[in-house]
Amino acid sequence: PYDVLVIGGGPAGSAAAIYAARKGIRTGIVAERFGGQVMDTMGIENFISVKETEGPKLVQALEQHVKSYEVDIMNLQRANALRKTANGLEVELANGAVLKSKSVILSTGARWREMNVPGEQEYRGKGVAYCPHCDGPLFKGKRVAVIGGGNSGVEAAIDLAGIVSHVTLIEFDSKLRADAVLQKKMASLPNVTVIMSALTKEVLGAGGKVNGLRYQDRTNNSEHTLELEGIFVQIGLLPNTDWLKGTLDLSKHGEVIVDTKGETSLPGVFAAGDCTTVPYKQIIIAMGEGAKASLGAFDYLIRSSVT
Ligand code: FAD
Repeated sequence: PYDVLVIGGGPAGSAAAIYAARKGIRTGIVAERFGGQVMDTMGIENFISVKETEGPKLVQALEQHVKSYEVDIMNLQRANALRKTANGLEVELANGAVLKSKSVILSTGARWREMNVPGEQEYRGKGVAYCPHCDGPLFKGKRVAVIGGGNSGVEAAIDLAGIVSHVTLIEFDSKLRADAVLQKKMASLPNVTVIMSALTKEVLGAGGKVNGLRYQDRTNNSEHTLELEGIFVQIGLLPNTDWLKGTLDLSKHGEVIVDTKGETSLPGVFAAGDCTTVPYKQIIIAMGEGAKASLGAFDYLIRSSVT
């Protein structure tokens, strides 16, 4: 069996695998798609010590670093189930194979919920964005919309208002769901407008760039167009944890609940990165958490009687 089996090959899983392999213990990594969300990222400007890079370039470096150690990389493999057995843990893959390990690190990441409207895919990364911490500065002095009036949407509007010229927050419901203190803060900002009861219908663009947004006023079905340069979609981040339901404790948002060492409710199972309850979903945070979960797993192994 493996000593440490990592599920997920994004920044968190890569860091976890490297930290485990450096302890000289048997390490494997299963990834549906090595690189994870970073593969879908164009410019990265907040990976500290690297002023500017691109997703696929960073993934290549990650892969090289992992491959410089003795790590079994099982790419293009999906984990379907996790089980505790009498003498360790088992992970079942979609292809039917069963891998045994003394400890497991879950780092299956998350995905942004999309609006599913025409233009969204076409203009993804060309005005349609999902992460204000990542892409906010690209819209300095420009006009943007934030879609979604929950905590993340209102936080994004407040954050962006300090960078861009104007923010329009669009909420589907007739009221905002964000905490009152955030709503109050947003209402105090002169360059934020809120439109309630609005259904986003289409992302508009020309010349490969976003130039507007079409929405329907749900109170009277009239349609309207906003002229703007950017759209931040803040309607939820979905952790890739459906396959873990009933196996270990998840938060109400489906995130794996971890303690300060990254351990989950199932002894010997650790988790790191965007699939966990740890706040702020960022590459550098996922890597740090991956390293931490791996050290947590090592700690567990040297204390456990499992041989
Ligand atoms: P992920 O990167 O999501 O990796 C998850 C891994 O698990 C993948 O390998 C996936 O294939 C695998 N997986 C999932 N389910 C299974 C399964 N059942 N079995 C096996 N494998 C599975 N962050 C920044 O810091 N700076 C940025 O500029 C930035 N820009 C971004 C731009 C975009 C468009 C997006 C989508 C995200 C961006 N982020 C950015 C966020 C950043 O990419 C994530 O925080 C980070 O990738 C999380 O790492 P992770 O390892 O936890 O998860």
